[in-house]
Amino acid sequence: QRTPIIAGNWKMNFDHLQAIAFVQKLAWSLKDVRHDYNDVEIAVFPPFTDLRSVQTLISADKLSLSLGAQDVSEFESGAYTGDVSAPMLKKLESAYVIVGHSERRAGYSESSELVGRKAAAAQTVGIVPLICVGETAEDLEEHGASAVPVQQLIKALAQLSADAEFIVAYEPVWAIGSGEPATPEQAENVAKALREVVREQKGDDVANATRILYGGSVTSQNIAGFMKQPNVDGALVGGASLKVDEFSRIAQYK
Ligand code: 13P
Repeated sequence: QRTPIIAGNWKMNFDHLQAIAFVQKLAWSLKDVRHDYNDVEIAVFPPFTDLRSVQTLISADKLSLSLGAQDVSEFESGAYTGDVSAPMLKKLESAYVIVGHSERRAGYSESSELVGRKAAAAQTVGIVPLICVGETAEDLEEHGASAVPVQQLIKALAQLSADAEFIVAYEPVWAIGSGEPATPEQAENVAKALREVVREQKGDDVANATRILYGGSVTSQNIAGFMKQPNVDGALVGGASLKVDEFSRIAQYK
């Protein structure tokens, strides 16, 4: 009963003009696909500077694409130079926001507590946070696959007070941009463990309704294996989401 979602995290790629051209081509490419995939949600996560352009295009052409941002401040407004708030993203009709991507955890020392507060800030305005968790290669060797992502999710969820929707993305750091994805079985095992965390903290109904995605070197060649797993409800795609044909093929995973 969970709607599958194929999400493209553009990271720091495409200016707003490139974004417009890309989304137009993507919409064209997905036009026929939609007959067989009307139950699949397809989402793009452009950089902040592209959001307004992409929002305008989606609403003017009534495209069946969802829009999300790549990060959000934990604060509502104020003296936070360089940051963007959840109410600002809401005004741009951002349905989703990524929080806790490993590139932000590593590059900006974001803790799971901060990630949880960002997720809470998003929920306050009705934006669904997409909470990323994942272990490094060293974590994997020392603790196995699920220990670190499970701890990251426990800490982040502890910050959420509202009973509002969230999405979890399992992205093993070693699989991101490496061309070495986890196996579908590895992804399923961790996704299952993460769903149990949601069950313990939020109860059965939330656990059964929460979408858990896999991310890390997803391509059109390997997507089907992930989507067959009972606890994997979609993919968060990086590099392969920057090519229209490839992303469109990933969206046609069956
Ligand atoms: P790649 O698909 O390029 O491995 O990136 C995954 C990712 O980090 C998506 O958020």
